[in-house]
Amino acid sequence: MCEQCSKPFEAKTVTSRFCSTSCNNKALKARKKLEKDKVEKDTLLQKYKNKIVEVQSREFISVAEATVMFGLSRDTVHRYIKRGIITGINLGSRLTRVKRSDLEDLFSAVEMPEKSKEIPEKPNFEVGNCYTISEISSKFYADPGTVTNLIKRNKIPTKKVGSFVYVPKNLIDKIFDGK
Ligand SMILES: [Zn+2]
Repeated sequence: MCEQCSKPFEAKTVTSRFCSTSCNNKALKARKKLEKDKVEKDTLLQKYKNKIVEVQSREFISVAEATVMFGLSRDTVHRYIKRGIITGINLGSRLTRVKRSDLEDLFSAVEMPEKSKEIPEKPNFEVGNCYTISEISSKFYADPGTVTNLIKRNKIPTKKVGSFVYVPKNLIDKIFDGK
């Protein structure tokens, strides 16, 4: 069986792997591409590694960097600046910078891995002890996507009833820490 096109063929030698020169060339090309992709991926990873270290040591970061580091949408970052929840400075059009420590304060539960080692409290799904996603969204000025992301990242237990997702209030309040 040809390793490239999977068709049966009459092998000239016991080591023949491909049915034709064409398949042989295709396989060679594919292998070269795979090798090239790997080199590119490694280079990219190395580049991002340096970038992450660099970003984490900077006081002010770009909106794009904030979206990646904190899993927020651009709109959310801009809304937080507008509401004075985080410090933003404008260095020109499309050159908004935000204070990294403000975001870290806001999302301390997300960014501190040792906190997740605590024994999780038993989730309380009783009526009155839960928020829906939209309630969290409006209470903490975060769009629903950001809220869902936070819930996932913090492994907060949820309960789905019909089209509503219920989340224990105490666990959410802990994350936002009243802010
Ligand atoms: Zn073939």
